[in-house]
Amino acid sequence: MTQFQNRVTQLFGISYPIIQAGMIWASGWRLASAVSNAGGLGLIGSGSMYPDVLLEHIRNCKSATESPFGVNVPLLYPDIDKHIQIIIDAGVKIVFTSAGNPKTWTGVLKEHGITVVHVVSSSKFAIKAQEAGCDAVVAEGFEAGGHNGREETTSMVLIPAVVNAVSIPVIAAGGIATGRQMLAAMVMGAEGVQMGTRFVASEEASSHIEFKKAVINSTEGDTVLTLKQLMPVRLLKNKFYQLVHEAEMRGATIEELKTILGRARAKKGMFEGNLEEGELEIGAVSAIVDRILPAGMIVKNVWKEFNEVLSNPIKML
Ligand code: NDP
Repeated sequence: MTQFQNRVTQLFGISYPIIQAGMIWASGWRLASAVSNAGGLGLIGSGSMYPDVLLEHIRNCKSATESPFGVNVPLLYPDIDKHIQIIIDAGVKIVFTSAGNPKTWTGVLKEHGITVVHVVSSSKFAIKAQEAGCDAVVAEGFEAGGHNGREETTSMVLIPAVVNAVSIPVIAAGGIATGRQMLAAMVMGAEGVQMGTRFVASEEASSHIEFKKAVINSTEGDTVLTLKQLMPVRLLKNKFYQLVHEAEMRGATIEELKTILGRARAKKGMFEGNLEEGELEIGAVSAIVDRILPAGMIVKNVWKEFNEVLSNPIKML
């Protein structure tokens, strides 16, 4: 494989600027270590983990790989201070924060020598992340699965906007699952990509096999950004989504929507495999993901395609 270096590979000490997104109920130590062992950057998704569970995943990940890995921390997590303390005490070197204000924890993490990257959905938030001292940002477009920005800015628009707005490296996310898409993002100025949906359809993802099958069988138009009044989330349309949609159509209040959502919907759908009643968070790019593969093969395939197209731009055009 081609020797490649840029600010993103140097920042994390990795071979390829391919990052596996931290995703609730999908990205535990098995997935994160498999991606890191293949030369990308694996992230443990701590949002669905109780503090003791997170610690176990960090320990297992350290045993499974000697390569760099990180932890994704959604800042609205209820026991956030416990997670941060575990991350510091366990000697984790890379943290990706999301869904919150980067000012709150970036300074604390950086004091402990941790590289901090924040996920943003607008150039306004990218500037805030840079001001807070983040080392890089993930610019995550409207196509992305899970929690998402309210403005609905697509990756095609967001990536160049964020690249223009900040001087720190920009990692593109939202709608990326192939080497060609990776190259397109980098032509727009990104220095790396973060992929979630592609890695949900991997052997090592901890999500339920029925959810993985639903992901690979889905097609264009099967995902939607919903619950914008509560916390916008992109998911696969199913019976649960229809309930939410009908409630929104009749003008349901936020309290009513919270009651419909209930508790642990995401776990029910993505971890327990209840495709009707559960919340199935996934990105729009699931439309072109059609096979469950080993995570290491996903990294290699994306990097191979990226290089093949890059090495023959005339043919590409
Ligand atoms: P709910 O309030 O519906 O349920 C909480 C879920 O999180 C339960 O399934 C619970 O597991 C688990 N959990 C893990 N740690 C804790 C804790 N300390 N206290 C309570 N529950 C905990 O939330 P969601 O399932 O919608 O979201 C869970 C978390 O994931 C939140 O922190 C949220 O911010 C994050 N999230 C991140 C997303 C992303 O895109 N990065 C997307 C969606 C959510 P159990 O059932 O075993 O008790």
